[in-house]
Amino acid sequence: NGGDSDAKNLRVKLVLLGDSGVGKSCIVLRFVRGQFDPTSKVTVGASFLSQTIALQDSTTVKFEIWDTAGQERYAALAPLYYRGAAVGVIVYDITNPDSFHKAQYWVKELQKHGSPDIVLALVGNKADLQEKREVSVQDGIEYAEKNGMFFIETSAKTADNINQLFEEIAKRLPRPST
Ligand code: GDP
Ligand code: MG
Repeated sequence: NGGDSDAKNLRVKLVLLGDSGVGKSCIVLRFVRGQFDPTSKVTVGASFLSQTIALQDSTTVKFEIWDTAGQERYAALAPLYYRGAAVGVIVYDITNPDSFHKAQYWVKELQKHGSPDIVLALVGNKADLQEKREVSVQDGIEYAEKNGMFFIETSAKTADNINQLFEEIAKRLPRPST
């Protein structure tokens, strides 16, 4: 916690990890700006955006989102982004089994080197591409359950489950005691 969190207003660092092309940047843009840009540019290094949501119990959660580049050449930089993160969102593309395997690498990496109380979410994105699906819902659920993660399938394109993803994460955050 960076100091200006209290019982009513949480501020949390969230890092997005996953293969290049799975839709991490599109998920962030959909959540923060409500937009989908099919011509969005490849993330270089990492980018930063923040968004605050209000929960039903009138608490607010400000997500400080680090959107990383998935490319191998930036892998050595990843610890800079996940250090101190309260939330790790690991994204794969449901049409791409390689990206699902890569997601498992990131889960292990965060389990080993992330904060001990990190909240982890596994996200199967591009759920609008059902006819191209190559990773079953069941495989996602099973892997997430085994690893104590929250699981959801999203579409940054249609906006399906994007807000739900962040709301569910917010509900799972440890609350500072008053
Ligand atoms: P990143 O490298 O993980 O940040 O991936 P991007 O957000 O740059 O997206 C990579 C490509 O996937 C882009 O061409 C997007 O338009 C496309 N894309 C992202 N999310 C979705 C989605 O939910 N559905 C579909 N059909 N395409 C998506
Ligand atoms: Mg990106």
